[in-house]
Amino acid sequence: MIYDPHGDYSRRMTSGHCLCGSVTFELTGDPIATAVCHCEHCQRQSGSAFSVNIIAHKSQLTLNGELRTYQERGENNDDVYVERRFCPTCGSSVISELMKRDGVIAIKAGLLDDKSIVKPGVEVWCVDRQPWVSLPGMAVSLDREG
Ligand SMILES: [Zn+2]
Ligand SMILES: [Zn+2]
Repeated sequence: MIYDPHGDYSRRMTSGHCLCGSVTFELTGDPIATAVCHCEHCQRQSGSAFSVNIIAHKSQLTLNGELRTYQERGENNDDVYVERRFCPTCGSSVISELMKRDGVIAIKAGLLDDKSIVKPGVEVWCVDRQPWVSLPGMAVSLDREG
């Protein structure tokens, strides 16, 4: 995983909440990266063209409130490789846990209270990127995952 030199999360507490406010969280320390994901599944889950994710270790996150979990399996319906957690009341995507990456989670950047600190430097799954999407400032663009 690539460290993202952009974005300053350390100056203040990074906090966030879902649309209805039943789920709140705080993130401590610097995240591993801030990454845009163009994958087809993120398009479906977000109802948008891509997701914006703060990649961190789950020990950095304190989460309050109840979440529901959708377990996403591989193409052959085999191992669960990502658990997508969302607010059961308002449906906001909150975090995804990457099961093959030992405690690494993706926190949905749109839930942050202060979104001015979000500066994605990495984009992944460009094979699924919609043709009209072109994002400035990407230091790294990967066809699939990093
Ligand atoms: Zn909610
Ligand atoms: Zn994705």
